[in-house]
Amino acid sequence: MPSYTPDANLENISFSTDRALVHVKNMSEKPHAVGFPAHSEVRDYIISELTKLGLETTTQQGYTAGDWGNFSSATNILARIKGSEKGKALLLLSHYDSNPHSSLGASDAASGVATILEGVRAFLKQNSPPKNDIIILISDAEELGLNGADLFVNNHPWVGEIGLVLNFEARGSGGPSYMLLETNRGNARVIDEFIKANPKYPAANSLVYSVYKMLPNDTDLTVFREDMDIEGLNFAFIDDHYDYHTARDNYERLDRNTLAHQGSYLMPLLKHFCNSDLTDLKSPNDSIYFNIPFFRLVSYPFDWIFPMLALAIVGFLTLLFLGLRNSSLEIKEIGRGFVPLFLILAINGIVGYFGWTALKNIYPQYQDILHGFTYNGYAYIAAFVLFSLAVGFWAYHKIGKAKTQNLLIAPLFLWLTLCTLVAIHLKGASFFIIPVFALLASLLILTHQKSPSPYVLLFLTLPAIWIYSPLIKMFPVGLGLKMMITATLLTSLTFFLLLPVFGPFKNKKRLAYLLLVLCFGFLLSAHFSSGFNKENAKPTSLVYILDADKNTAQWATYDHVLSSWTAQYIDVNKTQPNNASYDALSSKYGTGFSYISEAPVKNIAPPKIETTLDTIIGDHRKLEICITPQRNTNRLEIFTNDVDIIEAHINKIELSDYYLKNRKNNKLVTHYISNNDYTELQITIPKESDLELSLYEASNDLLNNPLFTVPPRPEDNIPMPFVLNDAILISKKIRF
Ligand SMILES: [Zn+2]
Repeated sequence: MPSYTPDANLENISFSTDRALVHVKNMSEKPHAVGFPAHSEVRDYIISELTKLGLETTTQQGYTAGDWGNFSSATNILARIKGSEKGKALLLLSHYDSNPHSSLGASDAASGVATILEGVRAFLKQNSPPKNDIIILISDAEELGLNGADLFVNNHPWVGEIGLVLNFEARGSGGPSYMLLETNRGNARVIDEFIKANPKYPAANSLVYSVYKMLPNDTDLTVFREDMDIEGLNFAFIDDHYDYHTARDNYERLDRNTLAHQGSYLMPLLKHFCNSDLTDLKSPNDSIYFNIPFFRLVSYPFDWIFPMLALAIVGFLTLLFLGLRNSSLEIKEIGRGFVPLFLILAINGIVGYFGWTALKNIYPQYQDILHGFTYNGYAYIAAFVLFSLAVGFWAYHKIGKAKTQNLLIAPLFLWLTLCTLVAIHLKGASFFIIPVFALLASLLILTHQKSPSPYVLLFLTLPAIWIYSPLIKMFPVGLGLKMMITATLLTSLTFFLLLPVFGPFKNKKRLAYLLLVLCFGFLLSAHFSSGFNKENAKPTSLVYILDADKNTAQWATYDHVLSSWTAQYIDVNKTQPNNASYDALSSKYGTGFSYISEAPVKNIAPPKIETTLDTIIGDHRKLEICITPQRNTNRLEIFTNDVDIIEAHINKIELSDYYLKNRKNNKLVTHYISNNDYTELQITIPKESDLELSLYEASNDLLNNPLFTVPPRPEDNIPMPFVLNDAILISKKIRF
C-alpha cells in the first residue's frame, strides 16, 4: 500500500489525500445515522460539494424494506457526468449514513465518499471527457438494510444503463484496502480489465474471492448483483476492526495510508473504465489471481489449475525416483521427515484452536468487544505466529541430524495433497501451487548439487514468503481472533516451505527458545494492554426498559464485565434475564442482555395504536394498524405471534413473500424511524387467526432525556456497538 505524505499542494489534476481528508473531517463531526440530526447536514455537505464541481445533483427518496425486514426511508444523492458515446455507464458508489448510534463514520464510509469527491474533482480538472457516462451514487441507509442501494436498484431509471460499479467501503479504520469482486458468473473479464487499468497497489487474491462467494454477504454491491446482475468491485479495508461502528471511527483514527490507497485505486480505474467497453464484462470463465511485489496482480485461467497440479505431481515423483536412484535421497530419513510434520501441525493446530477460548477465560473483559478483535489483537497474532515457528524449529531439532533433501519429501507430499483438495473444493486458492514449484526446484538443487548456494535456496523461498505472510495476518484480522488457528496452521505450512533454508541450521533448539521468549514478550505486552483506558476504551451498554402493559421497569446491559459506569444502575440486585423475550431485538451478533436490575417507573408515553380496518374478505382477515410515536423515537421493532402472514405492507411497501416465509423469531419488521414518522401496517392473515403484535419502541436519548440523570460515560468507556444502547425502550403487546 502507498505511504502517505502531506500533499495538500499537489497539482489540481491529481488525487490528494489531504484534500480528501478535509471532506472526511467535515462529514465525521457527529454521528449521522438515518434519523439523526446530523444526517441531513452531511447530505447537504455532499450535495454542495458536488454542485461546486459543476455537477447537477439530484436526490432520490423513498421507503424500502430490504431483504431482512429492515425498513427505513433513504435519501440517495446522485450526480452524472455525460460521456461522449452511448456505451454503458460506470457507477461510483459509497454510502453517507453512519452506523447507529454512536459511530462517527469517518472510515465507514466518509472515507469512501471523500475518495469519490476528491477523485472526481481531480478527474474533471484533467479535462479529458469520458466516453462512458459516469454516475455518482452516494447511497443512504446502508447500515440499516442496504435500503438506499435497494431504492436505487429497484426504482431508479438510470440503473439499466450501468455496466460496472466501483464501491468504496470500510470495516475498520486502517490497513490495506482489498479489492473484492462481485459477479454472478466468472471473474475473468473483470480481472483482465482491472489488470489493464493497472492500479499501483492492487491487494487482491482469488482465495478471498472464492471464500467470499461461499459466504452470505451484504454490501451495497450485493443488491446490484442479485437484483440487476451488475458486476462490481468493492474496495474495503478491514484492519483495526475494533474501531468499526464505534465512537472511535473518527477522523484522527482513519489511517492516512489507507485513504491514499483508496485514491490509488480510484484514479487509474476511473480513467480506464470511463473509456473502455463496459457492455461486455460478463464472462463464464474464472481466473486465479494474486498480488506479489514487482508484478502487481498476476492472473491465469482456472483451466490451468489441473495441468499445473499434474505437472507438480509428475515433477515430484520424478525427483523422488531420481534421488533414490542416485542415493541422494534415503527412504529411512524420508520416513523420519513425517514425524516433525505431524507434530507441528498437531501442536499448532490445537494451540490455535483453543488459544483464544483460553485467553477469553483469563481475560473475561474481551467478551465485551463484540467484534472479536481486541485492542491488543495484533500482539496476540504475533505471539501465536512466533509460537508456531518455535514449535517448528523445536520439532526439527528433535529428530536429530538428517539431510535437508530427505526432510523436503514429507512437506511436498502434504502440500501436493493440499493443492489437490484446493483444486477440487476451493479453486480460487490454487495459486498455492506456485511456492510448491519453488520447493520442487530446491529439491532438484539439493539432490543434484554437492554444495548448493544458500542464496539460490533463499531466493526460492521468496514466493512462499510473499504469498503467505500477508495471509497469515489477514485471516485472524478478517475473521476475528477466534480463527487464530488459521494463523498457526498457515505459519506451520509456510515454515515447511522454508525448510531448504532452515533445514541446515545448526542451532534450531536455541532458535526455538529465542522465538518462545519473543512469544512470551508479546503475550506480556498484550497482558499489560488487556485493560481499558482513554485510548482503548471499554464498550459499555445501558438500556432502560419500560413494560407498558405491566407498568414495570428494568435496567439492562449487554456488558459481561460491568464497568463502574454501568454498575451505577446494574447494581448488587442484578440478575441474569431468565426469559429470552428481549433476545430477538436486532443486534449484529444476536447478543442477548447479560444482566438486568429493577428500575423506577417513569412516565413515558407509549406509542399510539389505532386500528383503521379489521375485516374479513373471503378466507382472509385484513387489518390496518397505525402506530404513531408519542416521543422522539429512533427504532420500532415489531414481532408477531406464530401466525401465517399471507401479505404485509409497511407504509405501503410490500414485504417480500420470501421474507415472510423465512421470518426469524417471528420478527415482522424493524422500522428505523426518521422525523418521528408513523408506521402503518396492512396485514393479511387467515380469517380464523388472531394477531398479536409485540412492539419495542426505542429512542437513543437515555443520556440526555430530562426524565433521567444518567451521567456521561467516563473517558475510558465508549458506547458498545452492534446492540441497542443508551436507549429508552418501551415494550407493549396487543391482540387483535
Ligand atoms: Zn459501511
